[in-house]
Amino acid sequence: MSQGNTERTFIAIKPDGVARGLISQILGRFETKGYKLVGIKLVKPTEDLLNQHYAEHVGKPFFPKMLKYMLSGPILATCWEGKDVVKQGRAILGATNPLNSAPGTIRGDFAIDMGRNVCHGSDSVESAQREIKLWFKDEELVDYPLSGLSWIYE
Ligand code: GDP
Ligand code: MG
Repeated sequence: MSQGNTERTFIAIKPDGVARGLISQILGRFETKGYKLVGIKLVKPTEDLLNQHYAEHVGKPFFPKMLKYMLSGPILATCWEGKDVVKQGRAILGATNPLNSAPGTIRGDFAIDMGRNVCHGSDSVESAQREIKLWFKDEELVDYPLSGLSWIYE
């Protein structure tokens, strides 16, 4: 049933998503899918944290603007658990550029510009492990039984 479905991903609601009041709708997509929320907190990240989080993009032309955007307000950091959650999480968020995101995805439904794309999701299991460690202390991640698991997993 639920055994082995312990993959985890890091999903963040960026400052625009928080400021626009989209938190409940974004979290709702993951909750109603059947994923388990195991970590959540509102963070005002430091520049250092963002440089580490986006290490692969440091030095790219869009990076300074992106950094300013990510520093412009609180970010909701969340960690979700369940079968294939990294790949499914990316699908739920939609393509990086909201103009290419399908309707029904978060970015497809709630965003227009790449620099205001409301959310972040880890792009691989390895990135997820790295990002979860970066944003959460071990004791901030909690485990508990999700009710009705047999209605989610066969
Ligand atoms: P993601 O994993 O789908 O978020 O996309 P990336 O890892 O490629 O980029 C990280 C974030 O940087 C994106 O979500 C965008 O907010 C931003 N970004 C990426 N490429 C561009 C770009 O060409 N222009 C601008 N303005 N922002 C970008
Ligand atoms: Mg990325």
